[in-house]
Amino acid sequence: MSNLDLSRLLPKDLVKLSAYNPPDGDCRVRLDANESPYPPDPLILEEIRRALEGMPLNRYPDPASRGLRSAFAHRFNCPVEKVMAGNGSDELIGLLIWTLRGNQGKAPPVVVVPTPTFAMYSVAALAAGFTVHEVPLGPELEPDMEVMLRVVREKKPNIVFLSNPNNPTGTFYSKEQVNALLDASSGLVVVDEAYGDFSGEASWVPEVASVGNLAVLRTLSKVGAAALRCGFLITGSDLLQEVNKVRFPFNLSRYTQIAGEVFLRNYELVHAQVAAIVKERDRLAMKLEKLGFKVFPSRGNFFLMNCGGREEALWCFLQDGGIVVKFLSRLPVTGDALRITVGTPEENDHLIGRSRDFLSEGGTDAKG
Ligand SMILES: *Cc1c(COP(=O)(O)O)cnc(C)c1O
Repeated sequence: MSNLDLSRLLPKDLVKLSAYNPPDGDCRVRLDANESPYPPDPLILEEIRRALEGMPLNRYPDPASRGLRSAFAHRFNCPVEKVMAGNGSDELIGLLIWTLRGNQGKAPPVVVVPTPTFAMYSVAALAAGFTVHEVPLGPELEPDMEVMLRVVREKKPNIVFLSNPNNPTGTFYSKEQVNALLDASSGLVVVDEAYGDFSGEASWVPEVASVGNLAVLRTLSKVGAAALRCGFLITGSDLLQEVNKVRFPFNLSRYTQIAGEVFLRNYELVHAQVAAIVKERDRLAMKLEKLGFKVFPSRGNFFLMNCGGREEALWCFLQDGGIVVKFLSRLPVTGDALRITVGTPEENDHLIGRSRDFLSEGGTDAKG
């Protein structure tokens, strides 16, 4: 027996990374993970219950998730052969990186992302040996297209990841901006529409039929079914065949396939919840702005907020009051910031009340 020599076995880029750290324990109001505050409509839950009855637990699920994929294709208007289902879109991000890593021995493969953005793009890319180029958003967290296009032309990335709307900033890339990136890039451009429903804009999914270097990601996680772990990759079928070689066959449980299919077949019931969340987002943002906080405009179900250097203090104060939001330490562009997920009206009122208490107990205004 000998000790495991991790220093020899691990790639050095992995050593520098840290694992996802979930907040622990009890909190009454969870506004940190960009989940929907609403469980699915009772009609959906009842239909899932019925569909699960008599499920053959002794048999493997369909390795191709056919029923689920065809429900997606029908709902989002694209051919079913261009859709892959994943164990959350996280899995699909990993599979894209694994598939498009180029040939060993030459210069390392490259990913380009704006920053700040969803951390998993660079975590997965670095762990797979990619070089990651980050392009900072502008001072108001708007896209910096000039630099983005220049970096894409110079670095020729294997993959550009755009979260649209962007987590954690709420930034939205217009059709023109995404088209400019698609034109400038000889690699794959991934438009991650995890928050697409909240933007009120058209999805890029139907475009995969005609745009060869476009891939779109969607997920059920932010619209009421995070527990399912159900995401989708939509792209031209040549690439999809290759990704399918590295995907493990039974990546989605039968529970997820069945429940996800029911959820998608009743997706119109999601739209009412989305509309309520968007309305609350704008109300909550306005209330917090009135208290003196700096709220960045967002097209998602969350927004980023600065409070004059007292972000961590406010975060602790909220937590003591049973309210959890996401504290993002030393972000590019904004510095320390809080990312607040929009909750139910009651949850949002708790947050507003507690933030007001913070200011009065602190004895100063939000600008410190
Ligand atoms: C939450 C999130 C995901 C992950 O979605 P899952 O389907 O739950 O894995 C992907 N992309 C972005 C930008 C997200 O914020």
